[in-house]
Amino acid sequence: METVRSLRELSCADDYDPDSLPVDRARTLIRQFLQPVTTVERVHIRAALGRILAEAIHSPLDVPGHDNSAMDGWAVRFADLASTGTTKLRRTGESFAGKPFAGSLGAGETVRIFTGAVMPDGADTVVMQERATETRDGVSIEAGAVTKAGQNRRFAGEDLKRGATVFEPGQPVRPPELGMLASLGINEVGVYRRLRVAFFSTGDELRSIGQPLASGEIYDSNRYTLYGMLKRLDCEIVDMGVVPDVPDELERAFATAAASADVVITSGGVSVGEADFVRDLMSKLGEVLFWKIAMKPGRPLAYGRIGNAHFFGLPGNPVSVMVTFYEFVRDALLVLQGRRDVAPMPLFKATLGKAIRKVPGRTEFQRAMLASDGAGRYTVSTTGDQGSGILSSMSRANCFIVLAPETGNLDVGAEVDVQLLDGLI
Ligand code: AMP
Ligand code: MG
Repeated sequence: METVRSLRELSCADDYDPDSLPVDRARTLIRQFLQPVTTVERVHIRAALGRILAEAIHSPLDVPGHDNSAMDGWAVRFADLASTGTTKLRRTGESFAGKPFAGSLGAGETVRIFTGAVMPDGADTVVMQERATETRDGVSIEAGAVTKAGQNRRFAGEDLKRGATVFEPGQPVRPPELGMLASLGINEVGVYRRLRVAFFSTGDELRSIGQPLASGEIYDSNRYTLYGMLKRLDCEIVDMGVVPDVPDELERAFATAAASADVVITSGGVSVGEADFVRDLMSKLGEVLFWKIAMKPGRPLAYGRIGNAHFFGLPGNPVSVMVTFYEFVRDALLVLQGRRDVAPMPLFKATLGKAIRKVPGRTEFQRAMLASDGAGRYTVSTTGDQGSGILSSMSRANCFIVLAPETGNLDVGAEVDVQLLDGLI
């Protein structure tokens, strides 16, 4: 992979075409400039949900702490069991979860045992209760009730071994990690601080909800989709509202945002419309690259730095905002948050249920519904009109159909790549 040390150096590279940058190339380029946050906060594990561990976690104990039973049944010595006919054993006690059997098991003896109860000394195997009958003179074990020593027994440390590295720094804390931390008796962990993300919308035509609309004006929806997408990533959000297409006001907004946030996101004003001042301002305030990404929707995109803040200038169209966020910004935020395992969203194969029209040249992200055909296969069909202003196409979709630049029209039955949006939207 190429290494570029500065945005300036990049813009001078021979094969760099800012007017038609492939999606993958833009992703790789952005990645090179991302320095994860390093500040650590200690929080209770509940508050760590959705955060990223900043420390390695070593197990202070074995989980489980003792060999114990995986079943309700009878603790036995495997060697005592006859391979044919029933085996009669003498009951010498009980082992309950949390209340172990105090003695030890001798030859010909058995102890009634319950799931999670400590294995008595001397016992190596558990016979499930359905394969044994207790009578007045003992416990009869069916032939073949167990087939090997150690059956139905859980071993100390089989989940987590004392001293082992359970998590590395960069591990996201999700429900299983919360449970594992609790099982180790850990109540506080070090996590990276939250990313502070400031955003505003640009455009003279935009009004905020609660204001009346004059002719030609529209409500600003991008600040709400951005709010939602950033909330899902557990960012600290600074909503700076709508900034009109007035250079002084834009400059002030950029300066304020960059001074207080790790990341600044804007929408609108990065195309080449006459009132788009973002581009000019940026060359003055920071080091920013403007790209026409070879993708649809979401062609214009800006990335760069203003002071210490990263800047993403997203297009104005509501669908383009979401697609560029998911394809570029989301990964970048995950890296900045301290995650070490960030890879582009995986692609799955599905069969087209409806023909697709496409002109070769750009990567397309068509909004679509993936559904089971009832026979174990999945078919995928677009949600209809793919205009980049049609936000309802995102709402109806559960996936993107991702079409490579060279792909043209496709017929029903063609195999296509899909990216699931489940959990993202
Ligand atoms: P622009 O990139 O500023 O040229 O905007 C492209 C299109 O997106 C125009 O139709 C804008 O009115 C629309 N647009 C820009 N920003 C927003 C926003 N925050 N909410 C809804 N639509 C927007
Ligand atoms: Mg605009």
